[in-house]
Amino acid sequence: MKRFFVFLLVICLLTGCAAPASSQPGSTQATDAPTAPTKIQTGLIAKDGNTYYVNADGTYAKGKVVVGGIDRFFAKNGEEVLVVNPWHFLPYDYSPDLVTFYDYAQYEDGNVLDQSCIDPLLEMLGDCQEAGHTVRIVSSYRRQVTQETLYNNKVDYYVNQGHDIEKAREEASKIIALPGTSEHQLGLAVDLIDSSYPYLDEAQEQTPAQKWLMEHCWEYGFILRYPSGKTAHTGIIYEPWHYRYVGKELAKELQNSGLCLEEYFETLK
Ligand SMILES: [Zn+2]
Repeated sequence: MKRFFVFLLVICLLTGCAAPASSQPGSTQATDAPTAPTKIQTGLIAKDGNTYYVNADGTYAKGKVVVGGIDRFFAKNGEEVLVVNPWHFLPYDYSPDLVTFYDYAQYEDGNVLDQSCIDPLLEMLGDCQEAGHTVRIVSSYRRQVTQETLYNNKVDYYVNQGHDIEKAREEASKIIALPGTSEHQLGLAVDLIDSSYPYLDEAQEQTPAQKWLMEHCWEYGFILRYPSGKTAHTGIIYEPWHYRYVGKELAKELQNSGLCLEEYFETLK
């Protein structure tokens, strides 16, 4: 019996069965040591300040993903983009990282924005001024109560014009976003006008400052959120003054493609 175990030990040493140094011809132990398969963490993950959705195969999701009954949107690089429009409300737990960036506010809390877009905004406004234009910030962050006031005032306006309440609400929501669906509540949007033309109407696009902003905003990570001819997608009228921060990568993609934010996600597969 003892001789049998000695025989087995010799066989093992000769064949290397105790610890194979390499499973592939020509490979080395350091790079090819077998590892236990790691379990992929799927679903929503937070990484480097961004949120991603990991598919079952380990890739990042792109486009619309329904998570817990809520539509969530992921750009080509996998980063989540907050989309609010008449069909998508603010996430119930959304809480912007608000920082004061401006010494004047038309509304309470109106001189704050999410910290992520303040430096790019100030850089854009500085360069616009250096190019010889004067810009006024009309609106930035809005609290829910502010949005409700603006919306109700607009509904009242249409009721006073003779519309019934349903029609008044419908018309109002094309101009003042329904409370809970305004990008201003994200803290990532600003309304900017040329100081020489203090009106929020389509003629704003003809002003020198607005022309400069529309041409260059993407370089700073902003988009003109409600472009001309896109109301069927955005649900909001053409607003040549409302700029939304989406980051430089996505802003450049939208600029190059000519797509509005909704179209981008509709076409992203
Ligand atoms: Zn706006």
